[in-house]
Amino acid sequence: MELTDPARDLPGLRMARPGSLDTLGLRTVADLIHYLPRRHEDRSNLRPIGGILDNETVVIRGAVDAVRSARLRGNKSYVQVALCDDSGCIDLRWWNQPWLKRTLVVGTELVAFGKVKKGIITGAEYEIVRDDDDVLHSGRIVPIYPLTKGLSNPGLRRAIHGALEGALDQLRDPLPGALLERRGLPPCAETLGQVHFPDDRETLERAKRRLRYEELFFFELAVAVQRSHVRRTPGTAHRFSPKVDERIRARLPFTMTAAQDRATAEIVADLVAPEPMNRLLQGDVGSGKTAVALYAALVVVANRGQVAFLAPTELLARQHLRTLTGLLAGSEVRIDLLVGSSTAADRRRVLPALAAGEIDILVGTHALLEPGVEFDRLGLVVVDEQHKFGVAQRASLIRKGIRPDVLVMTATPIPRTLAMTAFGDLDVSIINELPPGRHPAVTKVCTRRGSGRAYERVRSEVEAGRQAYVVYPLIEESEEIDARSAEEGFAELAAGPLRGLRLALVTGRTPSGERERIMAGFRSGELQVLVDTTVLEVGVDVPRASVMVVESAQRFGLSTLHQLRGRVGRGGTKAWCFLVADKLGGDARERLKVMEETTDGFRIAEEDLRLRGPGEFAGTRQSGLPEFRIADLSRDLDVLTEAREDAFGLLAADPGLTGEPELRAELRRRFSGRVQLYEVG
Ligand code: ADP
Ligand code: MG
Repeated sequence: MELTDPARDLPGLRMARPGSLDTLGLRTVADLIHYLPRRHEDRSNLRPIGGILDNETVVIRGAVDAVRSARLRGNKSYVQVALCDDSGCIDLRWWNQPWLKRTLVVGTELVAFGKVKKGIITGAEYEIVRDDDDVLHSGRIVPIYPLTKGLSNPGLRRAIHGALEGALDQLRDPLPGALLERRGLPPCAETLGQVHFPDDRETLERAKRRLRYEELFFFELAVAVQRSHVRRTPGTAHRFSPKVDERIRARLPFTMTAAQDRATAEIVADLVAPEPMNRLLQGDVGSGKTAVALYAALVVVANRGQVAFLAPTELLARQHLRTLTGLLAGSEVRIDLLVGSSTAADRRRVLPALAAGEIDILVGTHALLEPGVEFDRLGLVVVDEQHKFGVAQRASLIRKGIRPDVLVMTATPIPRTLAMTAFGDLDVSIINELPPGRHPAVTKVCTRRGSGRAYERVRSEVEAGRQAYVVYPLIEESEEIDARSAEEGFAELAAGPLRGLRLALVTGRTPSGERERIMAGFRSGELQVLVDTTVLEVGVDVPRASVMVVESAQRFGLSTLHQLRGRVGRGGTKAWCFLVADKLGGDARERLKVMEETTDGFRIAEEDLRLRGPGEFAGTRQSGLPEFRIADLSRDLDVLTEAREDAFGLLAADPGLTGEPELRAELRRRFSGRVQLYEVG
């Protein structure tokens, strides 16, 4: 048998419905060997039917002794069989699957899995078995595969068993033996053999661990290759002196915190090095990232370089422009704006000035990256909020022949381990301290019924001259529904607990002109309460805001809630955040309680990761966290750390991977088209 032989020729699959194998991508013997079970069922311990107790979950094997079926009122029906072995009989019942009476005829041998309740197993998972393939389907830990119409587990199991017997020894191990030895992982053939038909729980776990390691190892190897490529591309070595430092600091109306100083020093070290910087700057909302970015920008401007300052939305771009212009008032630094809605006249002014090097800092949205926007000497790109600026944009700059330093800012406190994989080619600086005078919001969880307290606080704060946010969830798939629930909520508030206050509503449906007017009104203090589904996106900065109420708080990720509450408490007075849950069932209470207990964004992020898994992790879908087939980052961080260490170590020792042709081939097979493997082609 060859690995490339067609899968459908194997015993077990000859009767498979045409097309079903294609649906699952099972074309060859090799495909079968790599087709992983969805789960395993321990049938090494088949229970004698006579000894089963009520409420037990069991695997049993027997022959159908009698079949009964019935139709009831309301279109309901059931099929019930008595399954017997030498020790006794038990009833199995399936609802609303009338066709079963044709399959489960008297004499049929079944292995069934399910829970016994009042002497009967309802809705058991079952398989029809035959004597001749006994050893594959019972008396052992058995693989259960994902199926499609026209395929059965016994058939697939038999075929995969055949494929393993016939061709497993032809597989080449993509991982170097030295690494496997070091990590105590089984070789490829043993791994796949055991993952399908394990000897016991322990060998199965070892095999699974190796598969997770393998997946993460190749991912990290691709990251390492990418990163070493970026590192070796010559960039600009900026000059820096204490004098430059002094001049920049004189521009800031405050003294930097120790954390800002640390981040600044890390950035300066990157800027003066000839390799281009690729750094992620993480810090809570309001931790002072913008000031650090401005510092970096001014170092580059002092070197006669230009800076592109990218924001995810026009509103945020305008806000950055305001902040930077304010800080740079009276200096010679020239700063301008380019966004999607810039007029033709704006463009005629900005574009030639930019190309002539007459603009030092250009603030804007993605419009900055479009063709036709030519810099004279682009030295630094600052990106606010990683999730809107991906690998592709960076690559597009590099393709333009520009190799600027890149500083990415994010307020999403991604746990270090995750950041390592997602942004694996970035270095990370962390600002873990708020500027003095900032008060983290006192956070309270309550139910809808208990929300009166929250709105009383809104009222009293507003009466004391401060401002408030009320946030409703926005779910992308159903903007309509959310807008409606926000509209209804708004109407209730305006007529009830917040009657008489000056409030305004902004949802995803609010036209942008109107939204800008409302935001301006809130900034000026004319509006007292902003009811909003988009606060997070627009990143408003209103120091007088001292209280926030988050409705349906259980629908938000913890990290998102943490970012939200960072919007209040900037004015030097005490601040509150009320999390109103529709209901506090399940783990909602446990999750939201974390918000009451800590203001440490990284702890919150880790808790989020632990409770909800990386798939649910706030903002990850946009942030481009990779999705793994086998590995699960909330469980496998230790494996990830090993894989990363090994991948980076290997590449450091052998930068072109010349001694590892197998690895190179596997890397190309897995990532071609997705990651540009510049050197390892
Ligand atoms: P971020 O971008 O991290 O959300 P900002 O840079 O916008 O935070 O800073 C939030 C606010 O704190 C701004 O009003 C800024 O002027 C102020 N700020 C930043 N750093 C300091 C500091 N070291 N001392 C006092 N205020 C600061
Ligand atoms: Mg900011």
